[in-house]
Amino acid sequence: MVLLREDHRDQQTSRLVFDGDLGLLRDRTVAVIGYGNQGRAQAIVLRDNGIRVIVGNIRDHYWDRAVKDGFEVYNIGDAVRRADIALLLLPDEIAPGVYRESIEPLINNRRGFILCFASGYNIAYGFIKPPQGVDVIMVAPRMIGWGILERHRQGRGYPVLIGVAQDSSGMALEYAKAIAKGIGAIGLPGGVAVISSFEEEALLDLLSESTWSPMLIAAMEAYFDVVTENFGVSPEAAILELYASGELAEIGRAMAEIGFYEQLKLQSRTSQFLHLTRARNFYKIARRIVEREALKIWSGKITREWSPDLASGRVILERLLRIAMRSRMAEYEDRLYRALGRR
Ligand code: NDP
Repeated sequence: MVLLREDHRDQQTSRLVFDGDLGLLRDRTVAVIGYGNQGRAQAIVLRDNGIRVIVGNIRDHYWDRAVKDGFEVYNIGDAVRRADIALLLLPDEIAPGVYRESIEPLINNRRGFILCFASGYNIAYGFIKPPQGVDVIMVAPRMIGWGILERHRQGRGYPVLIGVAQDSSGMALEYAKAIAKGIGAIGLPGGVAVISSFEEEALLDLLSESTWSPMLIAAMEAYFDVVTENFGVSPEAAILELYASGELAEIGRAMAEIGFYEQLKLQSRTSQFLHLTRARNFYKIARRIVEREALKIWSGKITREWSPDLASGRVILERLLRIAMRSRMAEYEDRLYRALGRR
């Protein structure tokens, strides 16, 4: 992974973009490749914004869904052939294979073609190497597909990271802004695009998934085991306390809306005291873990554990998923959620 640009730290405000020029997409055809979580949401919003959208997918239930939603659907190669811009919205570990087989041969000699990614991963680690002459841009939503559609209905935007890996037209960043507007991220209240890079996006994303987020899982599992095994607490009470009540989700929402530290004031003084004193205690160990994992990501070492070519990563994932699904916490969660009518 290449180093971040030196100027990244000092240009905080100028890196925020609030609007783009949809006119740049008007006489173009956009192929949405992959009609999954992101693909469906982005295709629908682009079409509502007056952009000509076609869908490229393998022939399966997602194909049928796209047809039902009123799109022209083609196999991936045919969609790329008919388009000026392709949004690659496939799972990151699948994209390199599909790209090599169905996209690369078709864009090798297409100057002016625009290849747009929703994450930095495959370009940052070199799993996809687009040919000269095409623009390679990133428009990476900080929002799940469902949230994109929800905000679209409400007339609100959402955050995205945008970046350019190859600027053949001299307009690549402008196209990224235009796509960010087309998919409903900017040009609306609550919307912002941060000018970033493929490397920065991959680091941020993978680092969250390697550090604070799994730490939360480990802490919750340990909490559940200790209170139920050592203190005789009922599993139902423990699971409600941890996440099932929705309180955690509300705290997350408050963090996003009023700020990380401001939301603390919504909690009791006892809670504030315990949060802040314990956070100090955990900081050193957390920082050590974050630094270690960041180096693994930055150096590319992480791709020896998980990458498109690595079958062992998938075997490990499947095994761990099976273990998680059979855990005591999962078993009690299932009982609780059935009793609550959530399943
Ligand atoms: P999904 O898993 O929801 O869907 C991707 C699409 O790829 C589906 O249409 C799927 O069809 C298709 N697909 C899967 N396997 C193959 C295959 N072997 N050959 C051809 N097509 C295949 O992906 P996401 O929408 O979650 O992710 C797309 C991109 O968006 C990724 O780069 C991701 O990092 C990024 N992103 C995702 C976010 C999210 O919230 N999920 C948030 C921000 C960015 P089928 O399954 O039927 O085969």
